[in-house]
Amino acid sequence: MNLIFLGPPGSGKGTQAKLLAEKLKVPHISLGDLLRAEVKRGTEIGLKAKEIMNAGHLVPDELTIKLTHQRLNQPDCAKGFILDGFPRSSAQASAIEDVKIDRVIYFRVAEEAVVKRLLLRAGLEGRADDNEKAIRTRFEVYEKETRPLIDRYRQKGLLAEIDAARTIDKIATDLSLILDGNH
Ligand code: AMP
Repeated sequence: MNLIFLGPPGSGKGTQAKLLAEKLKVPHISLGDLLRAEVKRGTEIGLKAKEIMNAGHLVPDELTIKLTHQRLNQPDCAKGFILDGFPRSSAQASAIEDVKIDRVIYFRVAEEAVVKRLLLRAGLEGRADDNEKAIRTRFEVYEKETRPLIDRYRQKGLLAEIDAARTIDKIATDLSLILDGNH
């Protein structure tokens, strides 16, 4: 099954993507993780992306589109994949228009809950983009660039919504129910 996980930063979609990928034995493709790996390795993409990521802005579409296409072309994606954190803009969504997507899962959560979760994570993981200013920017970027994709996928009849302001177990159970209904 080819899935897209959509939702604001801190909505827990990464956690669920990881769990579900293990269960379904398909790759979990996190653009944030791919970009952080590029930064760590000091590649050309990494050098371009580092400051943008730290500030909470979107890395240019051409870079994320290239990374995603490269990753989706790997043989392990043939049996399905979970795309986490891509697309995040309408240009990115258009760039994978030709890729067959079975479902888009939207992780719905209130802004205050998200900020709280991100600030907590800042202490736990020490991510460079988890300071208050960057968190606010990431949320603004989400509202402006990414939120419109919800309607785009709803109109295509692909969207399933999950109340993401609950425990990891409850969300995982919901997710299984949604996907079982898809078979
Ligand atoms: P994440 O780990 O998904 O929260 O992503 C961390 C950061 O990586 C984001 O705040 C962006 O700066 C960058 N990033 C991740 N995915 C994308 C994307 N699809 N397009 C542009 N930038 C992205």
